Amino acid sequence: MRQQWLFAPTLRDVPADADIASHQLMLRAGLMRQTAAGIYSYLPLGARVLEKIETIVREEMNAKEGQELLMPAIQPAELWEESGRLEDYGPELVRLNDRHGRDFVLGPTHEEVITSLVRDGVSSYKKLPMNLYQIQTKYRDERRPRFGVLRSREFIMKDAYSFDATKDGLDENYNKMYEAYSHIFSRCGLDFRAVVADSGAIGGTDTHEFMVLSDIGEDTIAYSDSSSYAANLEIAELPDLYEAGSTEGPAAEKIQTPNMKTISEVSEGLSVTPDQIIKSVLFIVEGKPVLALCRGDHDINDVKIGNLFKTVQVETATEEEVRTYLAASAGYIGPLGVSEEIEVVADYAVRAMTDAVCGANEDETHYKQVQPNRDLPSATFADIRFVQEGDPSPDGKGVIQFAKGIEVGHVFKLGTKYSEALGAQFLDENGKAQPIIMGCYGIGISRTLAAVIEQHHDEDGIIWPKSVAPFDLHLLTLNPKNEEQFELGEQLYKELTSQGYDVLFDDRKERAGVKFKDADLYGLPLRIACGKRANENIVEVKVRRTGEVEEVDVSELPQYLEKLYQTCM
Ligand code: ATP
Ligand code: MG
Repeated sequence: MRQQWLFAPTLRDVPADADIASHQLMLRAGLMRQTAAGIYSYLPLGARVLEKIETIVREEMNAKEGQELLMPAIQPAELWEESGRLEDYGPELVRLNDRHGRDFVLGPTHEEVITSLVRDGVSSYKKLPMNLYQIQTKYRDERRPRFGVLRSREFIMKDAYSFDATKDGLDENYNKMYEAYSHIFSRCGLDFRAVVADSGAIGGTDTHEFMVLSDIGEDTIAYSDSSSYAANLEIAELPDLYEAGSTEGPAAEKIQTPNMKTISEVSEGLSVTPDQIIKSVLFIVEGKPVLALCRGDHDINDVKIGNLFKTVQVETATEEEVRTYLAASAGYIGPLGVSEEIEVVADYAVRAMTDAVCGANEDETHYKQVQPNRDLPSATFADIRFVQEGDPSPDGKGVIQFAKGIEVGHVFKLGTKYSEALGAQFLDENGKAQPIIMGCYGIGISRTLAAVIEQHHDEDGIIWPKSVAPFDLHLLTLNPKNEEQFELGEQLYKELTSQGYDVLFDDRKERAGVKFKDADLYGLPLRIACGKRANENIVEVKVRRTGEVEEVDVSELPQYLEKLYQTCM
């Protein structure tokens, strides 16, 4: 297409709230404009990239027996009442009324609608398994929309839902989606990890998040430096690799510790290292007191506490509750001599401690000479702390490192949560009614676009991977007033287009410097400039990613470009 026609207004100055590269570049390169806070219009270049990503997604979903459908953005509130999410979803749910006062929501996701469709359309195990997907606009009234389309209030999602008669069937569908997602994000040129995530109360491997590695990511990933192990920080496991500590020595003894409430105050005051101090934190788990212990240089992970008790109701006790149960302030509590109503859970590393220090449940007092392996006979030892960099990887290979990630996709085993709530049943081989077993699988299409730019740019602009670039080639006539340049440009535009390239042709009457700047900003994989040597039939070819420039004779251009384009990422 001729650039003259292209609506892609470039910007020199971006608003101050655009503080990350992808947000700035999407504005500067005219891919999008903000229409309201957290709500964007995609201009033609942006729309082209979205379409490229969507094509990749469709191809990979179809390859796994996914069937595309299209559901409405407006959904009746009654469906959300049936699932119980009308209240549970909270203020992110956008609600509205029609002229008759009926309640609707703007769909943030489509479990309710799809389950109601399948409830009415599938009755026998013979129709299962099934996988249905759509690419559609979602609405979430995010508390803090930010980072442009990375966290917006209206965004494009691919959401898929699988339906099975058996758990094994669900596993199979889940693995297929996992594979499809890996292909999709690889094809988009992304460096990503599929990380084990927290699935709510039960934990385990029933959900993975696909994370694009990036310093601006909001999530921390713990991954092994020498295997494919990767997990969200909240749930990264730690095996019990410790040797149990001593059971010998004199009994634990109380000592006065005025003004030593924190680990560092105790450490300084008693001249011990933090790993010799037991950190004690009181939680209220489903209404009951639980005293959790870890080493002073570690941190207790409340998600793991929840997983241990199979609940999400885990609160840190208030100062008042601490005093009621343990008769001391939070800085002086500990596990020795607590009443039986308080359950004590300790991290594996605590059992390995010898001659430890812990709070004595008396203000300004600690115990010393504590041997956890001897003195905590009724404690449960488990993995309840956060991993740290340098900890061993749970698969036994390498050590843990941290990275930041942007969540672009999510695969999740739903089980029968929605089919039971909405009554979506099938008759099994024995004619018995059973709830359909479901999975759900989301990809943020618009977030993926921004994530690609986060990973592929430099100070001059975007560097598109060719798989998602809005055009394949950028052809420039540097001075269209010069007849030879003009004619060569027109000739190449025709030829390259007929060779199958999608060409953006800059024949505008602008200075060469302006054209080069725009070309770098737009970031198409290859740039071909007809300039001063047009009279000799020589053009200049530049690879955007490497900056390599070469002069090429027009007669050799087709073969040259074919080879070069193949080597482009
Ligand atoms: P987040 O933790 O980032 O809020 P989520 O867990 O709410 O994400 P899901 O409900 O799993 O996200 O949605 C599926 C996908 O939709 C996400 O993996 C992400 O790529 C995308 N997505 C979710 N919320 C937004 C948003 N506000 N803007 C853009 N994309 C989003
Ligand atoms: Mg969210």
